[in-house]
Amino acid sequence: MDDTVQHVIGGSRKAGSGARTAEVFNPATGQAARRVVLGTRADVDAAVAAAAAALPEWSGTTPINRARVMFRFRELLEQHAKDLAAIITSEHGKVLSDAAGEVTRGLEVVEFACGIPDLLKGDFTDQVGRGVDSFSLRQPLGVVAGITPFNFPAMVPLWMAPVALACGNTFILKPSERDPSASLMLADLLRQAGLPAGAFNVVQGDKEAVDAILEHPGIAAVSFVGSTPIAEYIYRVGTAHGKRVQALGGAKNHMIVMPDADLEQATDALMGAGYGAAGERCMAISVAVAVGGVGDALIERLAPRVRSLKVGPGTDPDAEMGPLVTRQHLDKVRGYVDLGVSEGAKLVVDGRGLRLQGYEDGFYLGGCLFDDVQPQMRIYKEEIFGPVLSVVRVPRFDDALKLVNDHEYGNGTAVFTRDGDTARAFMHGVQVGMVGINVPIPVPVAYHSFGGWKRSLFGDHGVYGHEGVRFYTKLKTVTSRWPTGIRAGAQFVMPTTG
Ligand code: NAD
Repeated sequence: MDDTVQHVIGGSRKAGSGARTAEVFNPATGQAARRVVLGTRADVDAAVAAAAAALPEWSGTTPINRARVMFRFRELLEQHAKDLAAIITSEHGKVLSDAAGEVTRGLEVVEFACGIPDLLKGDFTDQVGRGVDSFSLRQPLGVVAGITPFNFPAMVPLWMAPVALACGNTFILKPSERDPSASLMLADLLRQAGLPAGAFNVVQGDKEAVDAILEHPGIAAVSFVGSTPIAEYIYRVGTAHGKRVQALGGAKNHMIVMPDADLEQATDALMGAGYGAAGERCMAISVAVAVGGVGDALIERLAPRVRSLKVGPGTDPDAEMGPLVTRQHLDKVRGYVDLGVSEGAKLVVDGRGLRLQGYEDGFYLGGCLFDDVQPQMRIYKEEIFGPVLSVVRVPRFDDALKLVNDHEYGNGTAVFTRDGDTARAFMHGVQVGMVGINVPIPVPVAYHSFGGWKRSLFGDHGVYGHEGVRFYTKLKTVTSRWPTGIRAGAQFVMPTTG
């Protein structure tokens, strides 16, 4: 891998115009592995110029030929999936099998984008008036940008770029500066697939590059995925600059466990969804809501499992959970565990003492489990984004539902029950965008769409699926009459049909 991770502008690697760089760490060892250049306004200008230059050719390519590029990209992604997963693990820290899963979920969006000729088909109505027809079509927006988080360095860019490109836009990706290398591989594979130079650009960087994107008059739309405070900022500034914006934010996903649930299944679900990827998933379950008397039985099952979680470097095939992404993030998550103790929650399993022989400087935290967490506590209200599961006990289903609905986030949620009435009441009444019934992480497949509610999504559209196609295209509706048709004469009243 390169020592310094660069931009990709106009089809080639560029060092950029700035002097600033940031360290990129291997979280498993805690060592700085390489540096990444941090883009400037001038670098964003150069990327927009390259994307704008590529736009006429790419948007003029027929949908079927854009689909063919996506088919080739899909094959290349599959061929290089292991290499891409290794890059992800080396900078993010997640275990290799999970990194491979991330690549697969991204690849599925490419497969969806392969259907673009069908997805772009418009509507046609014969005879909206006598001799008058009407049809609608969707056209690309132009140059669009994606700003992505550290926790899915391949999948989240792949939620955006394949759909945007297939719709005929050209794209600028601003990846997370914490794990930037996957973006270069995506750019290489897209070029190999036949995408013209400049149609997909990467500007590495931080706030400076982001602000330049938000303010640039040459960028028509911005897709963002990251934390809620930044999502809100992106939405506010981007829309103030006249852009279409979708900004997906943070989460606090609750899983309700009813007394009639299969507790073995619920425990397995909480282990995977709470501690997989060290809790660094926007769809991770961070709150288990134990209804009725189920709390004791749940804690009894969870505690030994959390204590015996296999934590290790992501390259260890036996590891179930890797390190956190950076030392700073480790300190933040550990700080939340300290806070929970001081707020009076019961720390049933304390992972703070974990030390791994040979990896003493890695950013590891053992699994942590809190019981008796109360809704007014900060560890309940705020997103921790680490391997920390909170159990809240409530007497009835209605209390559990209210808890979920009162929370500021509304990304994902799940209920575990054997009762159809409870499941339906939950599905219908819950104020959350993605709902699981006996499924802990209900991430929609690529041909549905992903998006939370409340402060988990700013904007009108989710990502990928049909929502993605709508976001990346403008609707045009044409009403047409030919001069050989019936003459109506000048009309001074509002036209009506008939
Ligand atoms: P983040 O908000 O810190 O960063 C996201 C992006 O914004 C990065 O590219 C970063 O460089 C940029 N950025 C950071 N600070 C900025 C600032 N002050 N001004 C402008 N740009 C800035 O998020 P993260 O820590 O990389 O990712 C984790 C967060 O993302 C969690 O909150 C998680 O829930 C969320 N997330 C949400 C979803 C979803 O679909 N809703 C998916 C994945 C992650």
